[in-house]
Amino acid sequence: MELIVLGCSGSGAGPTSPASGYLVRTGATTLVMDLGNGTFGTLQRHLDPFDLDGVVLSHLHPDHCADVSGLVVHRRYHPDGPGKVLPLHGPSESEVRLAVAYAPSSDERVATDLTDVFDYHVFADGPADVGDIALSSAPVDHPCEAYGVRLEHQGRTLVYSGDTGPCRTLVELAEGADVLLCEATWTDAPDRPPGVHLSGTQAGQVAREAGVKRLLITHVPAWSDGEELLAEARAQYDGPAELVRPDALYTI
Ligand SMILES: [Zn+2]
Ligand SMILES: [Zn+2]
Repeated sequence: MELIVLGCSGSGAGPTSPASGYLVRTGATTLVMDLGNGTFGTLQRHLDPFDLDGVVLSHLHPDHCADVSGLVVHRRYHPDGPGKVLPLHGPSESEVRLAVAYAPSSDERVATDLTDVFDYHVFADGPADVGDIALSSAPVDHPCEAYGVRLEHQGRTLVYSGDTGPCRTLVELAEGADVLLCEATWTDAPDRPPGVHLSGTQAGQVAREAGVKRLLITHVPAWSDGEELLAEARAQYDGPAELVRPDALYTI
């Protein structure tokens, strides 16, 4: 299984990266996991959008799903289209949220929803398969309905935190993972709001408590110092840890 970073800037696009988005592929299956601002452009450097087999959305904040509208336009209106209907796995309000983001008026939403583009599945219904990738999830601690995601293929495991504050569900989901792709949004300090996001220290604690084999730090906002967050994580977790970059490829 391979992970390709499309964007990793926390909370919105930054000067050196789009917002959150990742490709995950095996020999037979390619899915995109989150598709935040700017990531649809990066995606096209790596594959033809018609070659996607599925979409997975951790939650419905714009920095994780804003470019779904671009994917809809491409698959509906590109001269080579329309593409086949894509399975989309996400929170319970994905269908409504993505339709409102795409269509600027209520009249337009009556005339067309997005079910010609997506076949919606909700995480609350339990584990599912996307091609030859087994997908499971766990609710995490964020101001909206949000999930951590676990992807397994041929005995290898990638866990993605999505956006979350510290929570047991994420540690349990990440148990023994080969790679934990984990958000770290701010440095550790007593005045940080509870929940919402992780500090570098807390991301390192999750990796240690879950016993993961490798930690990839992501979702660093333009106003945070990634090296500082990484140093915090390394003080808690003694396995391999690094900051991800756009277009980086990791073999899992
Ligand atoms: Zn975010
Ligand atoms: Zn969020």
